[in-house]
Amino acid sequence: MNPNIPRTDRKRVVIVGAGFGGLRLARKLAGRKEFQVVLINKNNFHEFQPLYYQVATSGLEASSILFPLRAVFQNCKNVHIRVTSVTQVHPETSTIDTDLGPIEYDYLVIATGADTNFFGMKNIIERALPMKSVSEAITLRNRILQNFEDALSVDSSDEKEGFLNVVVVGGGPTGVELCGTFAEMRRTVLPSDYPELDFKRMQIYLIESGGELLGPMSKESQEKSQEYLTRLGVIVQLNTRVQDFDGKTVFMADGSTIRTNNLVWAAGVRATPPVGLPAEIINKSGRILVNRYSQVQGFDTIFAIGDVALMTEEKYPNGHPQIAQPAIQQGKHLAANLIRTVKGKPMEEFTYKDLGTMATIGRGKAVVDLPFWSFQGVFAWMVWLFVHLMSIVGVKNRLLIFINWMWNYLSDDQSLRLIIKPKLPKGNFEAMKQKVEDQLVTK
Ligand SMILES: Cc1cc2nc3c(=O)[nH]c(=O)nc-3n(C[C@H](O)[C@H](O)[C@H](O)COP(=O)(O)OP(=O)(O)OC[C@H]3O[C@@H](n4cnc5c(N)ncnc54)[C@H](O)[C@@H]3O)c2cc1C
Repeated sequence: MNPNIPRTDRKRVVIVGAGFGGLRLARKLAGRKEFQVVLINKNNFHEFQPLYYQVATSGLEASSILFPLRAVFQNCKNVHIRVTSVTQVHPETSTIDTDLGPIEYDYLVIATGADTNFFGMKNIIERALPMKSVSEAITLRNRILQNFEDALSVDSSDEKEGFLNVVVVGGGPTGVELCGTFAEMRRTVLPSDYPELDFKRMQIYLIESGGELLGPMSKESQEKSQEYLTRLGVIVQLNTRVQDFDGKTVFMADGSTIRTNNLVWAAGVRATPPVGLPAEIINKSGRILVNRYSQVQGFDTIFAIGDVALMTEEKYPNGHPQIAQPAIQQGKHLAANLIRTVKGKPMEEFTYKDLGTMATIGRGKAVVDLPFWSFQGVFAWMVWLFVHLMSIVGVKNRLLIFINWMWNYLSDDQSLRLIIKPKLPKGNFEAMKQKVEDQLVTK
């Protein structure tokens, strides 16, 4: 195997990760004669993570929140895409190791994002359902739908309870949005699909270890989101820490338990830096310490942006929030700085511009915090729809999502309630099974 990237007289910028940050940077450098861009990503597509929950709840097809990287960079001859994983960085030789072989860089940009943080809880790693990739969102959809099928075939109320109940851990936007949508489904489409099941027995729990939902948002938005969820019949438990799950029962630190087979883990993320950087520049959440030019501490030609980077400003002493906007803005700013550098000009410091945060809680309800204004309700929901629609990559995806949303709104019917299972090769080879699961990105 060989990455086969020709060496030219242009400066080579190797970008690892085509998420919000890496993709924005690559787009800004595409077509510029000063640079050869090598964009490395584990998958051949960009993922719009904020809408995973709609894939998990049958509202959207996976393909409408994914965008093929080669379609973004069609006819950009200075961009070389390689679908592979970076396994190690060697700053001393300015190379990285990938599954395809080593690649040299003039500038390296680490934009590898973050993964689910299970806080080392082994049973939860093995049994809970995370949602940090589109394959995990599809797995969650399959599991939830399969549970309703299974609930039809059991006799005891205890087993039925296990299949029907859902516990979501983590009161951030993901947890809140998931619970809101599950609650809407329980009220609308599920009783029609499964008239033999009694959905009054299905309980949806949202467990949060802190004292409020939507931690970084305004008090108004926090209270309103809790009120909306409670009105939808979601049982919100604050100041409650989940500490174990045996596949049938969730155990809380205060000694209480909940019967469910379905534990969804949305309780935090951990950055995923590549191996090879000094341990002292990586904090306990895996974030790489960078300066205001996004330069990794101690290195002039290695940069980190987005969720994996920890850049502090006076207003953000603990780093920027791990959301899309810092990644996008840092990608754009770094592109400008790299252009300045090759022109012999000094780089400029990055300053984060907070454009606001928002979350939706079921049909017609959302909370929006803009820097100087917070609002909630139907108008907030329309703003949420508009902002998310406009942020999606690709006109076709925007149209598909718009049509799906209108259909769901008018008919109360998530049309994608499909259980799509991978067909495993004969002979139960674990490695092959894992490979199929990893690669499963279907509708
Ligand atoms: C369920 C969910 C809901 C969210 N909702 C919101 C929201 O509503 N609003 C908001 O602003 N933010 C939201 N976020 C957070 C937001 O998606 C992230 O902050 C953002 O994606 C960070 O961008 P990034 O470029 O740093 O990394 P990412 O977008 O995570 O991209 C990292 C990329 O790097 C690739 N990669 C990782 N390791 C390697 C490797 N070793 N080799 C090659 N490629 C690699 C990955 O495949 C991925 O494509 C949500 C996140 C999740 C999971």
